[in-house]
Amino acid sequence: MTKTNHMMKDRYMKPNGNYTKNIPIIMSILEKHFNYTKRTTLNRMRKEKQDPFKILISCLLSLRSRDETTEKISNELFKIADTPEKLLRIPLKRLEGIVYSTGHYHKKALTLKHVSNELITRFNSKVPETREELMSIKGIGPKTANIVLNFAFNQPYIPVDIHCHRIPNRLGWLQTKTPEETEKELEKILPREYWFEFNGIFVLFGRTICAPISPKCSICPVSRYCPKRGVTTSR
Ligand code: SF4
Repeated sequence: MTKTNHMMKDRYMKPNGNYTKNIPIIMSILEKHFNYTKRTTLNRMRKEKQDPFKILISCLLSLRSRDETTEKISNELFKIADTPEKLLRIPLKRLEGIVYSTGHYHKKALTLKHVSNELITRFNSKVPETREELMSIKGIGPKTANIVLNFAFNQPYIPVDIHCHRIPNRLGWLQTKTPEETEKELEKILPREYWFEFNGIFVLFGRTICAPISPKCSICPVSRYCPKRGVTTSR
């Protein structure tokens, strides 16, 4: 390694062993590279201030589904059911057929029906606005609850999925084993100004560059700030 490289490594990668000091510069670089508001379904819905019920249903459909598929199927579903009552009236087999291509269609159809029923019977057909109430509905986990609170109600929660868990660990911001732990740590180290955009940017970053297996470190815009913790192979 050249002297210059050593200096750069020292300056950017080992500031007292505290990589969190790089958060503002990393966030500002990633903001420029990933115009997430145009590229992820849920973020577009948030920008368009769509109905909380639609955001909740699209979020449930998006689990283990490609973004384009989520958007297409959400739009098809909302043409015939844009309220909990209408969704509940769709026969199960027909609903399974509609959501089929998002994967896990049987489980998802059951979840959509159960959630709709809960909204009607317990929440006056409205999506509740607290984490406790949302997570009291079977089928709604911490990530979905945070997405709804953040995207539909503009509340300061950080939705953490596998990308939002993996990448901050690689960047050395934290050392956690589960998305739940990551959420708690991020709440301590991530300045609030980034809480709303963090999920959209990191999901896109994880899908395109910082992939689960063999991330594309050679073209990564924040490579110089990254200790690549846990990365064994990269491109
Ligand atoms: S340098 Fe590699 S491991 Fe680090 S953030 Fe970029 S792609 Fe991910």
